[in-house]
Amino acid sequence: MTQFHLNPEMLVLAREYRGLTQSRLAVKSNIRQWNVSRYESGLAEISDDHIKQIAQSLNFPLPFFSQSGTRAGLLSGCIYHRKRSTMPLKKLKILEAQLDLIYTNIQRFEDSVNLPDVNFPRFDLEDYDGDADIIANKVRQFWNLPSGPIKNLVKVIEDNGAIVKLHSFGTRKLDAFSKWHPKRPPLIFINSEIPGDRLRFSLAHEIGHLIMHRIPTETAEKDADRFAAELLLPANDIKTSLSPLSWKKLSHLKNYWKVSIAALIKRAYDLKRINKRQYESKFQYLSRMGYRKNEPIYIPLEQPIVLAEIFHVHIKQMGFNLEQLCDLLLINVDDLKICYHTELSKILPESFFKVVSDN
Ligand SMILES: [Zn+2]
Repeated sequence: MTQFHLNPEMLVLAREYRGLTQSRLAVKSNIRQWNVSRYESGLAEISDDHIKQIAQSLNFPLPFFSQSGTRAGLLSGCIYHRKRSTMPLKKLKILEAQLDLIYTNIQRFEDSVNLPDVNFPRFDLEDYDGDADIIANKVRQFWNLPSGPIKNLVKVIEDNGAIVKLHSFGTRKLDAFSKWHPKRPPLIFINSEIPGDRLRFSLAHEIGHLIMHRIPTETAEKDADRFAAELLLPANDIKTSLSPLSWKKLSHLKNYWKVSIAALIKRAYDLKRINKRQYESKFQYLSRMGYRKNEPIYIPLEQPIVLAEIFHVHIKQMGFNLEQLCDLLLINVDDLKICYHTELSKILPESFFKVVSDN
């Protein structure tokens, strides 16, 4: 019998995806924690019995654990900035594992479909005196964006090679995060529970991280916010319409630029179109009306299409059935339904998504 070739990274990924600690997994699999730890760090060969027990408790097919590849590349964005995110660490870890699993799955599609070419520029803030506004304008030029509002930001970045995944985070404490890999499309996770206008800003913020940051820095959050504001609301295009700033005007501007009223008020203040007193009184009004949580004027969520198209090609053109899709992705059918509900629901009837077993 040949020795099972374990890829330790896939073991860690599957365990974190299920939200288990090493000791929980050890108990569930009837293996000593010491062994789990050695397998995960690649310090010991795994026996056939042990990998079977682990695969069963984690509910992943055996070949999942021997596939080559690494977990997604550098984590980018606000996940580093814990000060801002009040999400419990455990939940954050599961979300990150979900992103990594999807990233691993996408790599398995590479043999059958051409993934988009990545056309994301890189700019170093130091080359521009730390001015994120200049970089935002360079990015607009690089992607040939006309002046005025960006009609569909998700489409712009998918056209330039990123893959966007609309995903229910189960919380409103985190809007978006992403992973960067030098040779693969960046994968950006966006939270489907966030209103469309707020999500556009968070997505622009995330693009700022992908383009400007590789390692967390002191000013990264501020830089990404400035980048997002200038990308979505270029000073030259919007400046004159921000004063005087009536509520009627704000509603009109929100519809036109598809960003939140809060972002517009902040923009008006940053561009010195309103003074501090006006800025504060407008925010007080937003709070009083409960608009800080739910603003009026609905801006729909932008729908990503690349991943849905990849599934469409496999099912409708290449004739894959679900079992074959699971074999390709090395996941079980329940996880397929859970991870790709948004994409598959465009192709398959809703009755299909009844998850039978519980993990
Ligand atoms: Zn951030």
